[in-house]
Amino acid sequence: MSEQKIVPIHAVDDWSDYSYQRFKVYTAKQLDQITQLEALSEETRFEMKVVASVLPFRVNEYVINELIQWDKVPNDPIYQLTFPQRGMLAPQHYDRVAEAMRTGMEKKELDALIKEIRNELNPHPAGQMEKNIPTVNGEPINGIQHKYRETALFFPSAGQVCHSYCTFCFRWAQFVGDKDLKIATKESGDLVGYLREHPEITDILITGGDPLVMKTRNLRAYIEPLLTEEFSHVRTIRIGSKAMTFWPQRFVTDADAQDLLDLFEEVQAAGKHLALMAHYNHWQELEPEIAREAIRRVRATGAQIRAQGPLLKHINDNADDWARMWQIQVELGIIPYYMFVERDTGARHYFEIPLVEAWEIYRDAMKQVSGIARTARGPSMSSDPGKVEIQGVTEVAGEQVMALRMIQGRDPDWVQRPFFAKYNPDATWLNHLEPAFGEERFFFEES
Ligand code: SF4
Repeated sequence: MSEQKIVPIHAVDDWSDYSYQRFKVYTAKQLDQITQLEALSEETRFEMKVVASVLPFRVNEYVINELIQWDKVPNDPIYQLTFPQRGMLAPQHYDRVAEAMRTGMEKKELDALIKEIRNELNPHPAGQMEKNIPTVNGEPINGIQHKYRETALFFPSAGQVCHSYCTFCFRWAQFVGDKDLKIATKESGDLVGYLREHPEITDILITGGDPLVMKTRNLRAYIEPLLTEEFSHVRTIRIGSKAMTFWPQRFVTDADAQDLLDLFEEVQAAGKHLALMAHYNHWQELEPEIAREAIRRVRATGAQIRAQGPLLKHINDNADDWARMWQIQVELGIIPYYMFVERDTGARHYFEIPLVEAWEIYRDAMKQVSGIARTARGPSMSSDPGKVEIQGVTEVAGEQVMALRMIQGRDPDWVQRPFFAKYNPDATWLNHLEPAFGEERFFFEES
């Protein structure tokens, strides 16, 4: 056998294959500048404008040129993931805005109409605005959510945007410029102050939007203090991001890409775990060479990449796509982590899939992969009481039921508790389910 020299990835210093790419983004105002849309009908483009006036729209050139297969439009999954479609608004909402735009309604009136519609779309699901906001000395701290004992979410103000927006985004209210709907903080001072008082917190999830839209120096200002002895209780720093998909250049060719990778290494060197919670929706996102290069580079820092994303009609509602995505992820060194259920907000009616069907897709996908790729939990609902996983449909004492499990709970004692709901093939969220066996309420509901 010939001797093969294995070069560790961090020792490779010739990245010349990748030249700098300028980040160019299009928003609702620039829809007409996207040349690929010229092939679509006038009516379709008008529909896009109507929907984009209510739900956030933002897409960058890499997504347009490298990820979307335009010959498959409108069925291309990445097109559905990023471009507004008429069905994303309920007919009554669509008609009102379309009529207003056709008749040239005054801006002030139109803005009021749009605001009214947004408020009907459950902008902050799962009690985010009331129940998860912590306080210090009785004062609420914006920019932090603390729902589960060991994990705090941090929303740095500079990270409340994404490299592109997903049409199904459950945090869409963050992006529509309405201050009342925005969770953010300008200072890391609030975060360290809160962590000082809460030694039970072991995990910080820095999230957004996408915190990796920030320059590394800004991200560093939030992370570095957490590496000191004072915060030895913080063991894992998670970063929730879709940059791996929407802008892999962030890890490869951006001016501060190397500084970002160095920061990841520093977290590991401080004896903590850096977990990149990467949002993936489709295997197509893993195809471009630069997307794979980004994965290689992040892994070379010692950080771990865990993949998560929701199950969505029009984008990934079949088992084959999930099995293929999980398999590729494993081959690239990513850990499949979660299949989520689309949340009860925004354009949900367009994307939602009944829970029973979601479980069937999950199960059929699991059947196609080996144990190594069966690490994804799900389908899981991030609901008000906690993360609830659909474990399956079964029969107990002659009653057809859905078996569920609380993966993560508002009350730590709820974690891993199984429970049962009456079989309901139409339910798409926890609040559509009723307890099985004649029980009056689920164990987590107050009496
Ligand atoms: S990347 Fe996440 S936060 Fe950003 S638009 Fe998509 S779902 Fe929303």
